[in-house]
Amino acid sequence: MRMKDVRRLMVLLVALREALACDWMLPVDVPDRRDLESVQTTAIGDFGHLRDARPGVPAHHHAGCDIARIGSVDEDAPVFAASCGRVVSIRGDGPFAQIIIYHPEDSVWTVYEHVAGILAHLGQTVTAATPLARIMNRRELNRYGWHFNHLHFEVMRCEPMAMNPTSESPERRYRTYGTECRTLEELNARYWDPLLYLKRQGPRGQEKVAERRQDEKRPFIPRKEGP
Ligand SMILES: [Zn+2]
Repeated sequence: MRMKDVRRLMVLLVALREALACDWMLPVDVPDRRDLESVQTTAIGDFGHLRDARPGVPAHHHAGCDIARIGSVDEDAPVFAASCGRVVSIRGDGPFAQIIIYHPEDSVWTVYEHVAGILAHLGQTVTAATPLARIMNRRELNRYGWHFNHLHFEVMRCEPMAMNPTSESPERRYRTYGTECRTLEELNARYWDPLLYLKRQGPRGQEKVAERRQDEKRPFIPRKEGP
């Protein structure tokens, strides 16, 4: 075996060990999925950003973060589970296609929205190494709109709302509070800031737990208000 292959194998083994340890990682394909600096949110994609009312949707605080696509739109941009868990809902139709995963060890739900090419299935057990879907490609963005050229990612601290599956989405079991947090109190009661959550989960370990408990007492304060 050549040195290059040995190194590649080592990288793969480390990634596999981390995934099996149920560590938390960025849900997108970057060289180091622990490096939060390797992603950017879109112009109005920060957690808590106050979104204007639009037909049928009142003004609300953005319940997730919009992770901008990395790399060329002509290459697939895979979406991975952020940690170990179980797929509890899949909405397979249209630009709001969505996957929800329950993470029993941490009692949180993660949400991946505006995805396409869904690979996950209902009831599937996943790790951070499991590909779930991809960000929309050029054809889909031309159809639905280029403002969907990102991954909408939520970390929910309360159970999403149960619903009956529809004929378009037979694997859909839940909907989220994605457009229903009109006050910061509602936002903070239902959601974690996703990037802050990944930061403080870090690798599992006792020193991290103490740090996390401190952080949890801090309320969310929006970085910017309004458009
Ligand atoms: Zn969003």
